[in-house]
Amino acid sequence: MRWVAAIAFAALLYACAFRPPARPPTTVPARPPTASTLRVRSGRGVERVATEDYVAGCVAAELGSIDADPPSAARARDVQAILCRSFALASIGRHRDEGFDLCATTHCQVYRPLPATVIGRLAREATTRTTGLVLLVDGWPVLPVYHADCGGHTSGAEDVWGGTGVSFLVGARDEACPRRPAWRLEVWLARLEDILAEDPHTAVNGPLRGVAIERHDAAGRAAFVRLDARPPRVVRGADFRTALLRALGPTSLRSTLFAVSRRGNALVFEGHGNGHGVGLCQAGAIARAAGGDQPAAILAHYFPGATVGSR
Ligand SMILES: [Zn+2]
Ligand SMILES: [Zn+2]
Repeated sequence: MRWVAAIAFAALLYACAFRPPARPPTTVPARPPTASTLRVRSGRGVERVATEDYVAGCVAAELGSIDADPPSAARARDVQAILCRSFALASIGRHRDEGFDLCATTHCQVYRPLPATVIGRLAREATTRTTGLVLLVDGWPVLPVYHADCGGHTSGAEDVWGGTGVSFLVGARDEACPRRPAWRLEVWLARLEDILAEDPHTAVNGPLRGVAIERHDAAGRAAFVRLDARPPRVVRGADFRTALLRALGPTSLRSTLFAVSRRGNALVFEGHGNGHGVGLCQAGAIARAAGGDQPAAILAHYFPGATVGSR
């Protein structure tokens, strides 16, 4: 029964793992998460990469821009190494139908071969310090979703992606999160109508007359968005964001923590944060490390009930 429960649990987590939001995968990993190598697809094609080399490359790619020197940055890289390793092992076979395990973009995790630079050396050191460590719930490695910046409050997995919820992916205020200026995106209504038409999850019968937030979640994110057309349609905020990211790029609708207003024949989105908002907030984690928190405490804050241990 423990295996049945574990597989069901893994399937639920698997369905929740995507950065940026995409349609959930429908398959469950066939192998237990113990692979020593991963099949990774990058711009160079599919390569087989030793798991710890993948982790080091992921850390350098994800956190390469933070200040290299202070000890707090080392703690932040240790957190990221545990995230990269856990995410990779819990995602084995995610792209099985395409012949590899993980892609090298934000759909899975950003990965590049380790650069021969100071950042590369520091990422390797973080990987070595945390060798084999992953995030565990009831002794089972779990998928630690994360994002760049929660904007002050994370969201529960079910609020963003639906489903019945995941015990350690609950929304919470992130008092450590640095306050940043709001981002802004202006889109012509006619252009937005064309963008939404490209995805069956968001397509409407034109003309699109406006967009409004149908329901906010506890964090203030747009859980559901109402598309004013004939007939009107209510879509999940994550699907709405995915459609815009796909058409306009990763710096367009950065999060679903936005307000929307009309300006002539255009819509103006103004918001905070960057990413889906579930699980660990990298901006908050870096700030917590700078404040003296240890990696295990940082992970425990963003993943309540989970622990760090060897796989
Ligand atoms: Zn991917
Ligand atoms: Zn945050």
